[in-house]
Amino acid sequence: MTIKSRALVTGGAGFLGSHLCRRLLNQGWEVLCLDNFYTGHKRNLLDLIKHPHFEIIRHDICYPISVEVDAIYHLACPASPIHYQRDSIQTTKTSVLGALNVLELAKRLHVPVLFSSTSEVYGDPHVHPQREEYWGNVNSVGPRACYDEGKRCAESLFMDYHRQYNVDIRIARIFNTYGPHMCAEDGRVVSNFIVEALQNNPITIYGDGKQSRSFCYVDDLVTGLMLLQEKAKLHTPVNLGNPVEKSMNELAEIVINLTGSASDISFHPLPVDDPKQRCPDISKAKRELGWEPKVDLKTGLQKTIEYFQAVLSKQPELTYS
Ligand code: UDP
Repeated sequence: MTIKSRALVTGGAGFLGSHLCRRLLNQGWEVLCLDNFYTGHKRNLLDLIKHPHFEIIRHDICYPISVEVDAIYHLACPASPIHYQRDSIQTTKTSVLGALNVLELAKRLHVPVLFSSTSEVYGDPHVHPQREEYWGNVNSVGPRACYDEGKRCAESLFMDYHRQYNVDIRIARIFNTYGPHMCAEDGRVVSNFIVEALQNNPITIYGDGKQSRSFCYVDDLVTGLMLLQEKAKLHTPVNLGNPVEKSMNELAEIVINLTGSASDISFHPLPVDDPKQRCPDISKAKRELGWEPKVDLKTGLQKTIEYFQAVLSKQPELTYS
């Protein structure tokens, strides 16, 4: 296979990053994966480690890095609430200093740089579904602020590096994504529900379960990221996510049915500032990238369930930290 060029993937050992590294390699890229392994794991990359066009660097993106690459995907940051709240100051540093270091690299190399932003920039939204023009409703002093405001500040840095230095930026606002290689202990709703259902333990629903999210299968999301990086010179934020909205009660029912589980539902208090609804308007991605998700929720969940069945058969004692 001829090598296209070399891509840097920061956060390449994480859930999304590892899928992206794999896809880039399959499409003929050489891949430089950078991770500090705070939430990423080598086990996500085991099949890639011997690949002749794959390298891993252990590095914290809060510190400057000098490498030679042709494109940058900047994904490094803890992304699940329990992970990003564990050391919230470090989360803000990772978002802001990480963005600065990556942007300085892109500026020096004159290469395109894609930033994995988040639907969290919309906070607990008053506009539904969320369009890119919506400025959001974020609590700047709450427990989610380190992530939400960190990502918002990083977005502003990306825009300023574009306006001031003409850096070729992309901003993907990523909505809830799921699939194989999710971390079973990261507290995410999809992984929690599946693991609980497979173990016939009560399904934990926070609040009344009427809050909604829209779940995108990881393969679709990776396709969107690569199209955004490669196809269009879009220098403003683009929503990437699945616009099919489900309540947590509906999700629990689907997971119980797909797993044939005997689990009951157990209701627990809603975490502070937990958004009530979340659904992307993806008309910009459709129009500019010709992208929309192809994998329906049941198909994607089935693949994810198979992954966790394999994980649990090796680690039957799996519990949450
Ligand atoms: N949630 C839940 N049970 C769980 C984990 C999460 O009911 O075991 C809820 C959570 O309160 C939120 C939704 O599921 O309303 C999505 O949570 P997640 O942490 O997966 O994503 P985020 O809140 O960052 O969108």
